[in-house]
Amino acid sequence: MQFRSTKSHENPVSFKEAVLRCLPPDGGLYVPASVLDMRQYFLYMDAETSYPELAATVAPGLLQGELNPFSASRVAESAFDFEPELRRLDERFSLLTLYNGPTGIFKDFGIAFLAAVMEELLKNHRPAMIISAARGDTGVSIANAFRNRQNIMSVLLYPSGAIQGLDPAASVPKGGNIIPIQIEGSFDECQRLVTEIIQDRPYAERYGITSANAINVGRLLPQSFYFLYAFVKIKKYLKGDLLFSVPSGNFGNLIAGLYAWKFGMPVNGVIAAMNANNAFGDFIKGRKFIPQPVKVTNSPALDVGYPSNYERMVSFYDEAPSVMRNMVFPAAVDNDETLKALERFWKRYGIILDPHAAVAYAAAERVSSAFDPGSHVVIIATGHPAKKAATVMQATGQTLDLPQRLSMLREKSDPLAVIKPSLDALETAIASCF
Ligand SMILES: *Cc1c(COP(=O)(O)O)cnc(C)c1O
Repeated sequence: MQFRSTKSHENPVSFKEAVLRCLPPDGGLYVPASVLDMRQYFLYMDAETSYPELAATVAPGLLQGELNPFSASRVAESAFDFEPELRRLDERFSLLTLYNGPTGIFKDFGIAFLAAVMEELLKNHRPAMIISAARGDTGVSIANAFRNRQNIMSVLLYPSGAIQGLDPAASVPKGGNIIPIQIEGSFDECQRLVTEIIQDRPYAERYGITSANAINVGRLLPQSFYFLYAFVKIKKYLKGDLLFSVPSGNFGNLIAGLYAWKFGMPVNGVIAAMNANNAFGDFIKGRKFIPQPVKVTNSPALDVGYPSNYERMVSFYDEAPSVMRNMVFPAAVDNDETLKALERFWKRYGIILDPHAAVAYAAAERVSSAFDPGSHVVIIATGHPAKKAATVMQATGQTLDLPQRLSMLREKSDPLAVIKPSLDALETAIASCF
């Protein structure tokens, strides 16, 4: 499979090039240049198939000529010592739990695959440097996945404020390959610096610079694997339409679900579950998207005003607007409904959700009532409920303890440098680490 820019159908590139450049030179985002029918790879799988097995089978199919089945097995085994979990709740709903990774967030899956596949692609290749803006626990997820990977340095740009959860022993002065740098500024400024340094081509070529931020296709593509995994686990119970309900902020997860559909997974709809930050729902319904100021809610990972995958969504809709309008269903869930859905789910199934999954559940109930009675919705649980213990307490009265691996995420550490938000300062700080 080749990749092209959202801005052009010309000059498609290989997966390796898309991963190692991260952004095409024309300012667009990489998307698959063609549709691949992957049914022969996953339709025969049964509920016994493990997650690494599924990834090791589907990845070489997608990346023919770049990743052979042996390499793919090595990548899948070294990426995934955690698995998604699919629980069928009743005729109407299943829950796909994606918070079993090291930081308790679904993003661990895409990041773990990206790190492992990069190491594989960089065999017999010059070294690469991966520069990522780090917010919340994503920085830890990246540091964890890239730690000790051959031929790779990982620079993390933190905004002002405390840096938590990084193991100082993984940093470059201690013999590791992680370089945490603090920018005197906001997360947006960190992201802008990442884009600028990738686009500083002479510099980027010299150091082999790319990024592990969510826009990298090497992170997005493998997120389609857990949609296929859920389908493989649930298919023998399906009697009618199949839908997925995805808590959506930057729309990476939702786009990965759409890729799974393009690869041949029989799915009838994807629910874009949003909180009060739902202006993007207008675009999905075929109206004009007018970005709104961000509102703070009790499902903060969905507090996004302008989705970073906007251009990828546009490219899907440009190809077949009416098909897309029958495929993606937006639903907005406010704070109060989120709490009520969390409580309802707990009472009905005895399972505690985090508020992001509660948004997906409320949206699933609402949208699926318009489908046939035999339809089934897979609700995607993106975050560990214990990370949002206060909201869980408010909704259900239950107390949750953080598992030990997640409580380590709250330990503070120091950056290797604190710099002004400028490209020069960043390039100097990186040089001083060698
Ligand atoms: C990042 C995140 C989301 C949003 O995912 P997108 O791919 O940005 O739409 C949802 N839930 C949790 C817990 C997250 O961390």
